[in-house]
Amino acid sequence: MFNLVDDFDGDSAMFRCECGNIEFIDYSDMEYHDDEHCVLKDDYKLVCEKCNIEHTDRNIYLEDQTVRINVPQCPTCGSYNVKKISTGKKIVSYAAVGVFSSDFAKTYCCKNCSYKW
Ligand SMILES: [Zn+2]
Ligand SMILES: [Zn+2]
Repeated sequence: MFNLVDDFDGDSAMFRCECGNIEFIDYSDMEYHDDEHCVLKDDYKLVCEKCNIEHTDRNIYLEDQTVRINVPQCPTCGSYNVKKISTGKKIVSYAAVGVFSSDFAKTYCCKNCSYKW
């Protein structure tokens, strides 16, 4: 089951599955959100990429801050304001360039300094 990890002022919030996997959900896929709680839209399916378990509860609460681990942090500027680069985007850049582009192996993009790693 997922917990809300952080509420970014960008276009998505970060969630962590109990298996440790991080997912990002756009605010447009939420019915409601505040600093400690969000409600997913009825038609939004939250499925963990790693353990394939679907989160069926529409309500997701902020996790206990004392158990915060494995939160992606920018190695350059230290910001937590990072975005996961989607697999779809990686495939598109691969197809467009025809060789391994610099983005292909990268997982996260820092929204603060634009660094990718
Ligand atoms: Zn999981
Ligand atoms: Zn950064």
